[in-house]
Amino acid sequence: MKIHLEPKLSSCPDKLRCPVCQQAFDVSRMRSLLLNDRGLIQGDICPECVRLTSDEIRVMMADHARLMLEQPKLYAYLPYPEEVAMELFEASLEEVKFPSPYHWLVKTIESRFLNPAEDQTTIQALSQMH
Ligand SMILES: [Zn+2]
Repeated sequence: MKIHLEPKLSSCPDKLRCPVCQQAFDVSRMRSLLLNDRGLIQGDICPECVRLTSDEIRVMMADHARLMLEQPKLYAYLPYPEEVAMELFEASLEEVKFPSPYHWLVKTIESRFLNPAEDQTTIQALSQMH
């Protein structure tokens, strides 16, 4: 798996569910997408789970996959818990690659240009530079 950073576009919902902890969270202006090794999006990883280690993420995903099969009623928000469980389990076998600090920085700056209204101080700082 790998974490791919992407600026949040207006078409993206404000709340999403994390594929690792299964909690709904508010999406920040930068999305952290979790992709499996085949490049399929598993979902947006929440700010708490993004701080975990690769092993912790994999264990949590495998635990939820098991629980989805054993007690699908706990995951009423999923139309097909069995299918999601298989995907989660498959993904949990893969090592997680995190973005480099440099990539993180570049993407953070990029997301500010795409959402300028949310960050007036950046605009002011930039306008003073020219
Ligand atoms: Zn999470």
